[in-house]
Amino acid sequence: MIQPILPGAAIGVLGSGQLGRMFAIAARRMGYRVHTFSPDQDTPTGQIADVEVVAPYDDLDAVESFARSVAVVTFEFENVPAPTAQAANRAAPVRPDGAILHTTQQRIREKRFLTKTGLPITPYREVRSLDHLHQALNELGYPAVLKTAAFGYDGKGQFKIDSPAHAPEAWTAVHHQESVLEAFVDLQCEISVVAARGDDGQFVHYGAIENQHSRHILDLCIAPARVTPQIANRAVEMSRTVLDQLGVVGVLCVEFFVTRDGRLLINELAPRPHNSGHLTVDACVTSQFEQQLRAVCGLPLGSSAMHRPAAMANLLGDIWSTGEPNWPAACAFPDVKLHLYGKLEPRPSRKMGHLTALNHAADEAYRTVVKARKALT
Ligand code: AMP
Repeated sequence: MIQPILPGAAIGVLGSGQLGRMFAIAARRMGYRVHTFSPDQDTPTGQIADVEVVAPYDDLDAVESFARSVAVVTFEFENVPAPTAQAANRAAPVRPDGAILHTTQQRIREKRFLTKTGLPITPYREVRSLDHLHQALNELGYPAVLKTAAFGYDGKGQFKIDSPAHAPEAWTAVHHQESVLEAFVDLQCEISVVAARGDDGQFVHYGAIENQHSRHILDLCIAPARVTPQIANRAVEMSRTVLDQLGVVGVLCVEFFVTRDGRLLINELAPRPHNSGHLTVDACVTSQFEQQLRAVCGLPLGSSAMHRPAAMANLLGDIWSTGEPNWPAACAFPDVKLHLYGKLEPRPSRKMGHLTALNHAADEAYRTVVKARKALT
């Protein structure tokens, strides 16, 4: 059992985006101090934190000295390089463990781990050359999706291949980097399970959340997901297996494909709070960010019960294209909550904020959040 880290202590966050910001809000509400470390300044997390350290992730001396100033280090994005996590770990515990980061930040390592657990995943092949790619396409058929093994998110580094003629183009597009080829899944829908695990094995989850993407970026979430209770329960049980086998101390999100014939396939893992869990801030007794805080501090986890069904709509930089969005129009919906991340530049596709709608019915929350977002522009 880890010694609890109590309010008043300082928590270190590697990364400085919106996930760190919402984590910092939860931590400060409970009386903790927050230090953030990233190469950027005036960041979403830095605006909330007590201390914002600005240094590159490969400045390992700076990382170690950052870790010396806090009681525990956590991270808010999974592409923190492994040597950075190791440097932090020389001065403070890192939770979840750096080894989990290492497994989940690279698709091949992640898929090999999932294969070992015996849980169902999308059929895939490892690809290291154009010859491999042709062979993998022969085995998996068309269409298929080529994804770079490392550092991909929000559909970046992904290419759909419809015929053998597309293979060289796709291989060039991934810059001849180690990749995976996945069979293209005929989807009924996509769901995720956000769950937390304590050092003592305590497990809490938010059930199945339904996710809709637009241009490969998460666009809308609906909770509870509109799937059968059997599918939702199976997804939760698979997620429990993932968190237990990885030995997660913190929050992890499992993303699933639900196939048209009702099967669940794990798409990917994120060893941190997840965009699909943002609605837990307004809809649940304990948000995903507070669960992460409690887990990494060795405190008992809170109830994940939902006050009411909810839906979330992401706000991307694109909605600024015709000027400042009409915030009062969204606030005119009394059951809609506005979250903005304090990012200074609204670039297209950049996640700038989100809206959460609450209702007695998930479908109705979904309709409301879509309407509220439309009212912004
Ligand atoms: P990922 O970055 O792997 O989560 O992929 C982003 C999105 O692309 C997914 O959420 C799906 O909507 C879509 N996608 C990715 N891989 C596949 C696949 N093998 N079959 C069908 N759709 C996919």
